[in-house]
Amino acid sequence: MFNQLGVIGCGLMGGSFALAVKRAGLVKRVIGYSKSPSTTEKAKRLGIIDTAAESALLAVSGSDIVLIAVPVSATEATFKAIRHLVEPGVLLMDVGSTKRDVVDAARRVLKERIGSFVPAHPIAGKEASGIAHADAALYTGRQVILTPLLQTSPELIQKATDVWAAVGAQVLRMTPENHDAAFAAVSHLPHMLAFAYFNAVAGQPAGRDYLSLAGPGFRDFTRIAAGDPEMWRDVLLANREEILKQAMRFRHTLDAMEHVIRNGNPEALEDMIRGASEARAGWHMGAVKPGGGAR
Ligand code: NAP
Repeated sequence: MFNQLGVIGCGLMGGSFALAVKRAGLVKRVIGYSKSPSTTEKAKRLGIIDTAAESALLAVSGSDIVLIAVPVSATEATFKAIRHLVEPGVLLMDVGSTKRDVVDAARRVLKERIGSFVPAHPIAGKEASGIAHADAALYTGRQVILTPLLQTSPELIQKATDVWAAVGAQVLRMTPENHDAAFAAVSHLPHMLAFAYFNAVAGQPAGRDYLSLAGPGFRDFTRIAAGDPEMWRDVLLANREEILKQAMRFRHTLDAMEHVIRNGNPEALEDMIRGASEARAGWHMGAVKPGGGAR
């Protein structure tokens, strides 16, 4: 049980975490700070936070658990704003979709206080961002990746694991490097492709007509193209090396498929489709049932 949760960035992820830990009875009160005072006030009006803080530092003051839930490009400035109050024993986490840049920023800024920081990435979210979409069940049945550093306090890693497990998530550990390589393949490149693909269809002269004819396959395929522009701009830039490696692999695979289509080679084309179809049919999303434990 924590006395006070400080949330910096009262949006979808931060607001959902506040609701989830409140529902699980893990905190006595929640104090929140967001860049726009109107967002913080809205979070209070909605009962997601109890107190609105006027600065990130004030959201950390008196808090024994702190969640940074800002766009990843704002993480370093947030560390700078709060570092003086990150006392030993305070559990400091983030939720950023990229981990190498966040961990590098933490090393640069937090220095000897880095032991308090447990980097986290919940594999949960929605296309709609903002506090109005906060949801107490957002993390239930989802995976949360922790990427602790050598200096991270083992007690705080355990506390972080327990908190995420208590809100219904399954906790995994990885290095920041392995995290960024994996998520470039299964999240960041797919988003980049969805944005590019939608632009390509919508941007052609008959694009509007074509879109009016599209069915459920197109809807499912392009769902993630509705993601938040600011958030995804940051993610694609922060993890650019790994994303560009994955883009290259994709381009080679696409070239190979175009080649067999151009040459009218039905066997080779069917083999390629069968490979994807069977692999997709045998794939199950890494989610757990509500109440799933940590490991
Ligand atoms: P969001 O709903 O837009 O919320 C972000 C919040 O951060 C907004 O309330 C914004 O405040 C605030 N903010 C921005 N800059 C700030 C600063 N310098 N100081 C304090 N607050 C600041 O976005 P989100 O979806 O919750 O994303 C937050 C983080 O979660 C990102 O790092 C993202 O990579 C990660 N994440 C998102 C998802 C997803 O699907 N959405 C999934 C996994 C991880 P204002 O409203 O005042 O502008």
